[in-house]
Amino acid sequence: MLLNNIFNQLGISSFKGRLRFWFLCFIALMVLFASIPFIFFGKQEKLEDANVSIEKTIELQQVVINYWLQERISDVKSISELPSVKALDLEQMKEVLEAFDKNHSEFGMILYVNEDGISQINTKSTTEIDLSDREYFKEAKKGNSFITGVLIGRQTNSPIIIFSNPIYDSNGNFKGLIAGQVPLLTITDVMNQFQDESSETYLVDRSGMLITKSRQGEIGEYIDTEIFEEALAENPITNFYNTQNGEKVLGNYRWVHNNQWLIIGEITESKIFEPFYRMALMLSLVVLFAILIGYTLMVWVSNQAEAPIRKVLEGTRKIGERKFNFRLEKCKKDPIEFKELFDNFNNMNEIIESYIISLKESEDKFRTIVNYSSDMITIHNSTGKYLYVSPAGKEILQYEDKEIIGYDSYYFIHPDDLELVKQKHDTLLKEGYAVSTYRIRRKNGEYIWFESSIKLQGKTPEETHLIVISRNITERKMVEQKLQEANNVLLELSTKDGLTGIWNRRAFDERLELEWNRAIRNSSALSLIMLDIDYFKKFNDTYGHQAGDDCLREVANIIELTAKGSNDIAFRYGGEEFSVILPTTDLADAELVAESIRKAIDSLNIPHSGSVISKCVTISLGVNTMIPTESQSIDQLIAKADKALYQAKQDGRNCVRSTVSLISKPN
Ligand code: GH3
Ligand code: MG
Ligand code: MG
Repeated sequence: MLLNNIFNQLGISSFKGRLRFWFLCFIALMVLFASIPFIFFGKQEKLEDANVSIEKTIELQQVVINYWLQERISDVKSISELPSVKALDLEQMKEVLEAFDKNHSEFGMILYVNEDGISQINTKSTTEIDLSDREYFKEAKKGNSFITGVLIGRQTNSPIIIFSNPIYDSNGNFKGLIAGQVPLLTITDVMNQFQDESSETYLVDRSGMLITKSRQGEIGEYIDTEIFEEALAENPITNFYNTQNGEKVLGNYRWVHNNQWLIIGEITESKIFEPFYRMALMLSLVVLFAILIGYTLMVWVSNQAEAPIRKVLEGTRKIGERKFNFRLEKCKKDPIEFKELFDNFNNMNEIIESYIISLKESEDKFRTIVNYSSDMITIHNSTGKYLYVSPAGKEILQYEDKEIIGYDSYYFIHPDDLELVKQKHDTLLKEGYAVSTYRIRRKNGEYIWFESSIKLQGKTPEETHLIVISRNITERKMVEQKLQEANNVLLELSTKDGLTGIWNRRAFDERLELEWNRAIRNSSALSLIMLDIDYFKKFNDTYGHQAGDDCLREVANIIELTAKGSNDIAFRYGGEEFSVILPTTDLADAELVAESIRKAIDSLNIPHSGSVISKCVTISLGVNTMIPTESQSIDQLIAKADKALYQAKQDGRNCVRSTVSLISKPN
């Protein structure tokens, strides 16, 4: 994420750009890692080197100067101990001193000062000067040899030191002194050997006066620098400090001449680090050169890699343009991985091309099928809108594409069939397949019957669509309707009694079984009335068979009319016998119904001269009621009703008898 953001910010999204970016990162890291030790340790090392160098220099100078001082003092000593000197023969002494002066260039002049402090011999200047107030004279009087501090010579006006040694005669009496005046140039020469532009060593005395020339001042001038203060306090020097003239230096010091003089060695900071900076510059140049070479190499490598990548890119672009016949050309210089990639790419293209050809062929086949199919093939979205209608569909429904595509299919369906079609849609969503029969409106407003097989396609709601194959089944539907009507007629014929027009025995059997089972399920009462015309044989005999039939019709009509107001159903059981099924009716109500039928027949007043019990046609009725259980049978119900009828006949006819009332209701 972060890396991508960085790349986007830098505007480097290409392979080459990223390669260069990483290369630069790598270089930066390399430079960093390489320079850290160099910067940290290199500088330190130079500092230590400088310290050591100063230390060595001033140590050497200390030895040289001490040695030089010793040498001069011993020179003076050796003169003062010469016999000719001890003899105090001024002529001879002068010769000796002049010869010595001549042979020892270090000395500027050599003096003989007598025991009163008056100069008697001077190899270069006048004599008879009172020097008794001089410290070296006082020291000589005490018997000490002496080295003076730095003095500015009166004649030469240049710095000098005087070395002195007392003279004693053979008796050991003080006879004056020999003094050698030495210009400090020799020491300056010694010190000069260590001067250069950036480093120098110089001498100061305890007052801070420069004994040798320095960049900080002429001889005789004073310095007041940090190192001078530290030296007086005998403190070590650890840090850089500023010299009198403002240069930043690192320095060290040593005392010489019995802590009278201070050798200071100093080296400027720029001098210390100059080699370091030079090395850093060299290193930078080398790194720069390495970067240049590396970058060139990297560009070369990335170009090598980029060329084949560009080829592959070009190939994939062609695929995007559906040019599957495009093939990548291999070059000799392409890396083998890319050669293999090109082969794979070309193979892939070949496969896609062959797939597309075969797909197109099969698509053509399917298009032909769809175009020439007499079935209407439609595609709908998940809510049922038309997306496609095959040519057959247009022929069947007569709509133009614009009149149907995009419209909801429910819009064309007969309102009476909408509910059913919606149910089928639910089935479709559950099972993925459904078949539905319904009416659909043509352009001319006429409805035709359709049978549609619907298949659900697509996994997600967005891609879900319906493929529907529909067939005009209007003709079939008409034939079916006619058949149904014929069947209904047949059914009517088979279950209605031909003579009376009421339900026949067959209908009775079926209906009784149905009501019997229902009563078992509901544990409800089921009643049955069986009735028979009294002395009907004689009626026939008296009025003829035709009149008998008419009588049967009238009786049947009355029974049916009486039963009609309720759930009761009347049947011709056979001959002049009828039955009534009374569902969910208890015995008392059934008896009431039976009695009302009996009365209705009675009140018909159909003359029946043949009857023994009446002048008119009468009937006898038997009633039975049961709350049936699984263990009982329908036959029991019928048998008991029959038995009650028989009892009614026995009891004189034109009456109602029921199973339970058989005993309790005689006549
Ligand atoms: P009962 O009072 O004991 O019933 O005397 P009944 O004469 O009615 O006796 P039975 O039941 O034996 O006689 C039935 C008669 O009904 C016999 C038959 O001639 C007559 N019959 C049966 N079917 C028809 C029919 O379809 N038309 C006519 N006209 N008569 C029928
Ligand atoms: Mg009968
Ligand atoms: Mg009868």
